[in-house]
Amino acid sequence: MNDVLPGEVETWQFLENQARSIFGNYGFAEIRVPVVEKTELFCRSIGETTDIVEKEMYTFEDKSGNSLTLRPEGTAPVMRSYIQNKLYAQDPVAKLYYMGPMFRYERPQKGRYRQFHQIGVEAIGIEDPKIDAQVLAMLSHFFAAVGIEDVSLQINSLGCPECRPGYRSALITYLQERLGKLCADCQRRYQSNPMRVLDCKVPDCKQATADAPSVLDNLCGNCEAHFGQVQQSLRDLEIPFAVNPRMVRGLDYYTKTAFEMVTGSLGAQNAVAAGGRYDGLIKDLGGPALPGIGFAMGVERLVLMLGDNKLAPSRPDLFLAALGAEAARETFRIMSGLQRRGLHAEMDYEGRSLKAQLRRADKLRSRYVLILGEDELARKQATLRDMEAGTQEEVPLSALEQILLSKLQRA
Ligand code: ATP
Ligand code: MG
Repeated sequence: MNDVLPGEVETWQFLENQARSIFGNYGFAEIRVPVVEKTELFCRSIGETTDIVEKEMYTFEDKSGNSLTLRPEGTAPVMRSYIQNKLYAQDPVAKLYYMGPMFRYERPQKGRYRQFHQIGVEAIGIEDPKIDAQVLAMLSHFFAAVGIEDVSLQINSLGCPECRPGYRSALITYLQERLGKLCADCQRRYQSNPMRVLDCKVPDCKQATADAPSVLDNLCGNCEAHFGQVQQSLRDLEIPFAVNPRMVRGLDYYTKTAFEMVTGSLGAQNAVAAGGRYDGLIKDLGGPALPGIGFAMGVERLVLMLGDNKLAPSRPDLFLAALGAEAARETFRIMSGLQRRGLHAEMDYEGRSLKAQLRRADKLRSRYVLILGEDELARKQATLRDMEAGTQEEVPLSALEQILLSKLQRA
């Protein structure tokens, strides 16, 4: 679990602001849900035999003996909220986004943490494959807007309760014949979660299942048509994508369209965003039979990808240096006025030498510095130094705000 410190937090804020603005333009509204839910919610939605539920959840009993879990993902809590607050009664269509911490007890490594953060979206109530394409377009737009280029979109269809069982048993039969070649994890889960074997990162498993039956050859007519239309809409929107029939998701609730935004630049942790359709989930959780589709992006991985393009912390517009207690009192008053006008102003609180104060102004990379001494104060004047041009001038204190605003072109 990581602290996010100044110097890095600016990148987080940039990503969050971009998400708010872009998702807002596509008609998505923010929803905030608690970080703790009843354990049962995740068992029922994500699935008892998934990695997350089997071994990654932070589950505990509260003082009344309820089993609670720190949310490992955002979709189930958002659906719980959608149902509990009867949002469907006003409008079955809801387009929501969320951002915040998720918790999974995984083996920590680069790009994989126990508290990590997701920015996610959910589009509820629309069956039309155009919404799949719309969500994917928004995801691609987000990556372009934040300047992450080394990513590609992979899509697949996971079928539905109609066609998946047939595929599932064909896959189990196939895996059974190659059991000896699979890793211990896959030997354990090939019956309970056969599709996850296709997603196993162990090279031997990949090799042993290279010619496994493809989910795409086993889709029912409805799923096949839906997937075809998603692809057509993506082409219409000129969103580049690749079909990857081996891509599965580690959560049981996905149906039909599934997708990942993958990168070559993060080693094994190559998925920066992932999602899909979950048409049966809302009903399974006790709500109306409404479809949904969504994705979640891993913020830590986005930050890693932005890497050296780190945004600098906000730099002061003005640093006020004072000589003597009277001048310090006056600069304090001026600073406060400027801050109220929306300028970033700073000063020194320790009554240090002018040289030390100027060093601090330099360190903070202040754009301008105001120097106020006792005799300048008596004349109601001060020296305004332009730190970039290296020039300085006397300015009347009464006009300081106007002069600064116009220099900073914020008047
Ligand atoms: P992975 O295959 O990398 O384990 P996942 O399939 O478990 O990912 P999802 O549950 O779909 O991932 O979560 C969506 C995104 O959240 C991932 O693509 C990734 O960017 C991020 N993510 C998931 N787990 C972690 C983690 N433990 N630490 C950091 N980011 C994570
Ligand atoms: Mg995972």
